[in-house]
Amino acid sequence: METECAKKWRLTHKGERQRYKQRWYQEHREQQLAHQRKWYHTHKQQAREHNKKYRLEHKEHVKEYRKMINAKVKREVLGHYSSDRMSCACCGEGHIEFLSIDHINNDGAQQRKAFVGARSIYWWLKAREFPNGYRVLCYNCNLSLGHHGYCPHQIKEEKSNE
Ligand SMILES: [Zn+2]
Ligand SMILES: [Zn+2]
Repeated sequence: METECAKKWRLTHKGERQRYKQRWYQEHREQQLAHQRKWYHTHKQQAREHNKKYRLEHKEHVKEYRKMINAKVKREVLGHYSSDRMSCACCGEGHIEFLSIDHINNDGAQQRKAFVGARSIYWWLKAREFPNGYRVLCYNCNLSLGHHGYCPHQIKEEKSNE
């Protein structure tokens, strides 16, 4: 049982201890990583089995985590390509569930080839540090552009401008 006095000391020195830990970690980072790598190397089989077992036992957890991290990357990429507006460049649709990335100089076949092996276009773009030439469109506008070469939203706009 922690005494009142010890508790007080712990609380008042909390920041100090954290800073110390952080500094220690920074100073020994390389060492730690090398150690981890070495361990992994000599225990490859064990580590692999452990990971596999963990994944099986925590299936739901792992799935949730993947979903969460995928959504995070999606938000990050959509944010970047919509200047943080998070909306369709054509119609302004703002529900993230409807949004996707459009290759502006549309070459779908080439694009799909490039993404083979990537987890998704979002991970692919992030890994390449957000190359130019992409924008955010909702599925409706994206599909219409793909199928018809135009989006009805644009035509309506042109008509109303006449
Ligand atoms: Zn749209
Ligand atoms: Zn549209």
